[in-house]
Amino acid sequence: MKKADVVVLGGLSGITAGISCRRHYPDKKVILIRKEGTVLIPCGIPYIYGTVGGPENNVIPDGLLENNGIELIKGEAVDVDREKKVVTMKDGQEIGYEKLVFATGSVPLIPPIPGIDKENVFPVKKEFDYLSEVHSQMDEVKDLVIIGGGFIGMEFADECRKGRDINVTVVEALPHCLQMAMDNEFCDEAQAKLEETGVNILVNEKVEAILGNGKVTGVKLSGGQELKADMVILGIGAVPSTNLAKNAGLEMGFKNTIKVDRYMQTYNDPDVYACGDCAEKQSFFDGRPTGVMLASIATAEARIAGANLFSPTHQNCGAISVFSTVINGRAFGVAGLTERMATQIGARIVIGTAEAPDTHPGGMPNSCLTKVKLLFSKDTGVIMGGSISGGKPVGEMINVLSACIMHRMTADDIVKFQMGTHPALTSSPIVYPIVNAACKAIIPLKKSA
Ligand SMILES: Cc1cc2nc3c(=O)[nH]c(=O)nc-3n(C[C@H](O)[C@H](O)[C@H](O)COP(=O)(O)OP(=O)(O)OC[C@H]3O[C@@H](n4cnc5c(N)ncnc54)[C@H](O)[C@@H]3O)c2cc1C
Repeated sequence: MKKADVVVLGGLSGITAGISCRRHYPDKKVILIRKEGTVLIPCGIPYIYGTVGGPENNVIPDGLLENNGIELIKGEAVDVDREKKVVTMKDGQEIGYEKLVFATGSVPLIPPIPGIDKENVFPVKKEFDYLSEVHSQMDEVKDLVIIGGGFIGMEFADECRKGRDINVTVVEALPHCLQMAMDNEFCDEAQAKLEETGVNILVNEKVEAILGNGKVTGVKLSGGQELKADMVILGIGAVPSTNLAKNAGLEMGFKNTIKVDRYMQTYNDPDVYACGDCAEKQSFFDGRPTGVMLASIATAEARIAGANLFSPTHQNCGAISVFSTVINGRAFGVAGLTERMATQIGARIVIGTAEAPDTHPGGMPNSCLTKVKLLFSKDTGVIMGGSISGGKPVGEMINVLSACIMHRMTADDIVKFQMGTHPALTSSPIVYPIVNAACKAIIPLKKSA
């Protein structure tokens, strides 16, 4: 029987956990077991259908594993015997371990809509061959309906029209697209940007049935309207892939995730760890379980799990939830709580907003207006969240906000923040919008003190 010090089951966060383990414990033998032959960059999946041109241009190279001395075994793990410390593969092969990491991820949520199993209805699976098939089918499509106006649905809608003359409709059950992630003013901006590309957006509408005889021909909406469709893409969320862990007797947590502590160690087996979409998450803010699934969280957890395997000392501070997307060239990002989320948990907040061009002078080529909204606790002045829209710099500005949140900076601290600025690269230091939004929150914060 093959044996390793560490066996990891998974893809994206599995690779990261393996690399982290080898960095901390270079003498340990690590095997990664992965179901897929080729692993895709999951966040790049919508871009397969437009910008990057095909799944072959969106893969995580296996060289990463080789370069880090990790052995790859392709195939599905079908059983874990925790007493014997053995993983059994579908082909019968057995692999022994000292430490095991579950990074088995998630699979798309498939709602019980009548007709959901019709031909050309595609949940967004993270599988190379499957997505290649969707890619070749899409060239024949005239009417595409996307169910779900979250970031996956919106990115697909934006991408699928690139280089294709097709009708695209997004159907969203809530009053706004992206409502679960952003406040209304940012949702409205994102929706308007997508509509500019010719995508049709229907909100407050649910798909009640998928029509067609074998192959999809349309969808029926809750309002009674019928839409023509020769392809349907489902972008309504994901569920953790945890059957193997459950069958191995591991304790399950929130919404069928694997229960882990702050070291990413499972509750009932100190030799088994879990990270990524399959692992339970606690909110950074209130410590309650949260269902958020993001690659950024998955890989952060994987680094912690890998580092802790033979000496559990690194702690997970909880999920801040940092998200970004780009719709028709305008970027949107959120770190931590939105105003809506803060209201839902009953937090007393003060808001500061600011706008500035992302170059100075604003007349520079490709300059873009950046809008920042920061939320501070009325009681402590500590930052609880931030939302930004603008040009490409938003992708990194939102990460700056995440660092501010993680280190519990106050509005006063952010006002004193020393940023680097350059005419072609950033807003002017006089109106730097993160700092100015904090400045604007200071007066109401002082009044409420
Ligand atoms: C279209 C799309 C766009 C996204 N965009 C973003 C984004 O922009 N930013 C962001 O932060 N997040 C994004 N996400 C979310 C992100 O992709 C996930 O959070 C991330 O993939 C989680 O990584 P993971 O390693 O936990 O799980 P996964 O990526 O799901 O990987 C799990 C792996 O484990 C394998 N596996 C499962 N069971 C077994 C088994 N029994 N044996 C062997 N192998 C097994 C699977 O086949 C898979 O390869 C996006 C998701 C999708 C679908």
